[in-house]
Amino acid sequence: MGKGSNVQKAQAARERNQKKMGKSDEERKAAAQKAAKDSTAFMCSVCRQTFMVNVKLTLLHGHAVAKHPDKTPATCFTALVGFDPNAPAGAAAAAPAAVVKPKKKKKEEVDLSSLLDAGLSVGKKKGKK
Ligand SMILES: [Zn+2]
Repeated sequence: MGKGSNVQKAQAARERNQKKMGKSDEERKAAAQKAAKDSTAFMCSVCRQTFMVNVKLTLLHGHAVAKHPDKTPATCFTALVGFDPNAPAGAAAAAPAAVVKPKKKKKEEVDLSSLLDAGLSVGKKKGKK
């Protein structure tokens, strides 16, 4: 919601700073260099394919296994040294899925209708007597 305005504010502040400091070209160059560095943060040392800085290790591991089955994953990416594909960091991320929402509401509804049924049958019996 407020993200858009924050971005606008940040951009406005950046523009102000650039005017003040008069280093926009240098800053832009540095930002471009950082972006280029980030986009090639991981490079396969076997086939030179590059990966973004925020790539998941499981993806790098998958590349190594799929493209270079004759090499060890750590040979392709130094980041994979000590990486265990059977216990990736993603295991922790999968935990929230185990949280089950309580189904109290539905149970109450069922209880209510069964109570109603019981009441109705009791009422009928009473009426019969
Ligand atoms: Zn590769």
